[in-house]
Amino acid sequence: MNLSEFYSRYSDEQSCISFLKNHLEKKVSCCSKCSAKKLVWKESFAGWRCAKCSTRISLKSISFMRDSNLSFVEWMELIFLVLHGKKSRSISEILRLSRQTRHDTVSYAVKKIRQELIDTKLKADAEFYDLIEFDHDSDEIGLNSIDTPGIPTTIKIFIKPSKLKRQDQIYLEISGKYHLDILSTKISRHLSPQYRHKKLCTIKIKNEESNSLPSTINHLWKKKVKENFIKSVKGIHHNLSLLFMQGVLNEYCFKYNLRNSSLDPLSAFMQLFETNVRQNCGESKTT
Ligand SMILES: [Zn+2]
Repeated sequence: MNLSEFYSRYSDEQSCISFLKNHLEKKVSCCSKCSAKKLVWKESFAGWRCAKCSTRISLKSISFMRDSNLSFVEWMELIFLVLHGKKSRSISEILRLSRQTRHDTVSYAVKKIRQELIDTKLKADAEFYDLIEFDHDSDEIGLNSIDTPGIPTTIKIFIKPSKLKRQDQIYLEISGKYHLDILSTKISRHLSPQYRHKKLCTIKIKNEESNSLPSTINHLWKKKVKENFIKSVKGIHHNLSLLFMQGVLNEYCFKYNLRNSSLDPLSAFMQLFETNVRQNCGESKTT
């Protein structure tokens, strides 16, 4: 799907709502309040209403779009602009291409979208594991060196090989030694009254799993992944912070894993989202 196809298909709120509804309705199986199974779709507020107790479950509230004033058509445009094309796009470029006028709004939405691109299932299914070392000009992390703009010195790589040619899939993750730094940045942002996007900094305590996977990754192949990753962020992201680095890695892996697939990026994104969403009978919050 190219830009003009996208805009002809998803130019109005209604078409975006039906696209999202089709993908998300499987996730809303019962009422969050009374657990009744009968939910009725209501166009008037773009959500479901429980036939028994009238509780509303809005489409927005069950997704990453909750707590946002952006319309569905605005979200869809931003999702498409993030996912479309082989290369990553900078916030400024997305701002220029989209109907948005505020850098802050785009920056927030893009970070949210990148967070959603995490493929935890792929990580669980991986067969090989290794570390990619990124040389730095300095030990200081987050330093914007020209060659590795803000990239941590080590990144974990998980690989799910495929018998088919060029169908192997990867999952990149920030190495455990950075988690403390990330945690302390998140805490200080939560405590800061000026920081408005606290939702972007949700704090999860991770158990550092012991990686029992074999690490016999071909050295040349590893070098190639590393070089390609640097190429994809160099000159695009000038100010990569460690805090949002996982999102950038997610986006890179998403595009890499889709490189030879016939699936369009929007459907692939929704599939990923469907896998990631907790199956908890929806949420009672209406937006
Ligand atoms: Zn109910």
